[in-house]
Amino acid sequence: MPEDAAPTAALDEAALRIDLAAAFRLACRMGWHESVGNHFSAAVSEDGKRFLLNPKWRHFSAIRASDLLLLDADDPEVMARPDAPDASAWCIHGTVHAMLPEARVLLHCHPVHATALCTLKEPRILPIDQNTARFFGRVAIDTGFGGMADEAEEGRRIAETLRGKSVLLMGNHGVSVAAPSVAAAFEDLYFLEKAAQTLMLAYASGRALNVMPDALAAKTAQDWRDYAGMAEAHFAHWKAVLDREEPDYRD
Ligand SMILES: [Zn+2]
Repeated sequence: MPEDAAPTAALDEAALRIDLAAAFRLACRMGWHESVGNHFSAAVSEDGKRFLLNPKWRHFSAIRASDLLLLDADDPEVMARPDAPDASAWCIHGTVHAMLPEARVLLHCHPVHATALCTLKEPRILPIDQNTARFFGRVAIDTGFGGMADEAEEGRRIAETLRGKSVLLMGNHGVSVAAPSVAAAFEDLYFLEKAAQTLMLAYASGRALNVMPDALAAKTAQDWRDYAGMAEAHFAHWKAVLDREEPDYRD
């Protein structure tokens, strides 16, 4: 197939299922999972309203491509289905995909360092190294935590705050990352957790931080865009590892 040929929707969904299942397995390997909670999704329709989501309370390490739920954000019966998703997952992902069709993939979890950053009064990612500067100008902060996200209003606020950005630091809660592909979202989540780890360790020193001037941070963030291919290479590497060690993620 020529590279510019549009794949059919069915092919898209099959490929997305495999990539999203890989992301769950890899999140587990990275230690980003939490019990049987948290949720990743990927839109399969142009308008974002039809999307794949992990089934309720299935451990990330066991998720297979065929396990992913195909949901419709406009379907009022979703939470009445026998295989209804987690209420918080439906609230966040259903609303974000419906309101932000450009957010093709949305990963939501509570990695320890990024979540620790989100507990600070001012949970900003200060540009103090290349990885923190990667996110300069790309981060939204939601400080309206209202308990477990299970109401439509909570989902709308999260979607509105994320609009135009690719990372949402959710105060008192965790993080969400939106990207055009699973590989790109995985890469941003990977670097987000690394950036937060570095920043929290630097804070823990108690010493003054050497924060980059805005212009340098913006240039560094722009420089990262020239490395966009890294995301695909990184994800392809890990999929090859999964293919050797736990190939049933593709099932
Ligand atoms: Zn959460």
